[in-house]
Amino acid sequence: MTDFRGGEVWLVGAGPGDPDLLTRKAERLMTEASVIFYDALVGEGVLALVPPHVRMVPVGKRSGRHSKDQTSIDRLIVEAALAGEKVVRLKGGDPAIFARSNEELEACRAEGISVRICPGITAASAAAADLGMSLTLRGLARRLTFVTAHALAGERVSLDWHALADPQATLAVYMGKAAARDVSAGLIAAGLPRDTPCALVEQASLPTGGEFLTRLDLLPIAARTALGDGPALILIGQAVGAAVLPQRANAYTGTVRASV
Ligand code: SAH
Repeated sequence: MTDFRGGEVWLVGAGPGDPDLLTRKAERLMTEASVIFYDALVGEGVLALVPPHVRMVPVGKRSGRHSKDQTSIDRLIVEAALAGEKVVRLKGGDPAIFARSNEELEACRAEGISVRICPGITAASAAAADLGMSLTLRGLARRLTFVTAHALAGERVSLDWHALADPQATLAVYMGKAAARDVSAGLIAAGLPRDTPCALVEQASLPTGGEFLTRLDLLPIAARTALGDGPALILIGQAVGAAVLPQRANAYTGTVRASV
């Protein structure tokens, strides 16, 4: 049981999109809530599970599109909780991974509001599942790094490429589609082999998604040509060499997935 009381906030992971990948706890919290503030990344199938009496407030954040800024979202959550609502803040994937949860936790705690987290399946896990591969490989991929390649408009991504260019690591790059060129160039310059296996997975876990296998030096071309405008994750490393493309049609392009 979740003992969800009025005036409390739950940051809930909605998983990668497929409603079957939602936790039972997340589903229960969504049913018990009086209001749900949800991101643009939350899958339609997940939203369809919310009962009609729950007030739904989109606070979607997708790069390049109009959205509420983080401070406004913090304030909305706090005000709803102070008004005695049972507040769910529904986020794509896991709320503790690149989801600005800390701002919301701090905003709630500053007002003495009880705030808890319900974890969700993160995009990297869903992408690996779609590709039928393991993110770690005994002896070959001993480290798994989650990194965001999000850059402010007009700026280049600045990451510690030498620290990331570990041939024994799997890199899961979130928000990396626009920065694929910087990621590829940065890692190659830092010594990662040009033919390091890479995968691009768009809309992981959803039937409308797509997967592409490529190599590090061709990653920028693949990111430019192979993807639609859905959220996409980049996986890089030797573990990706064991990935297998699923046999299903790509709904975005109407073509069967291919290796680039
Ligand atoms: N909290 C989320 C990540 C939010 S950051 C999680 O744990 O998954 C947003 C980025 O996550 C997107 O730009 C994309 O890189 C990735 N992402 C989220 N959902 C995805 C999905 N279904 N398929 C592929 N990538 C996804």
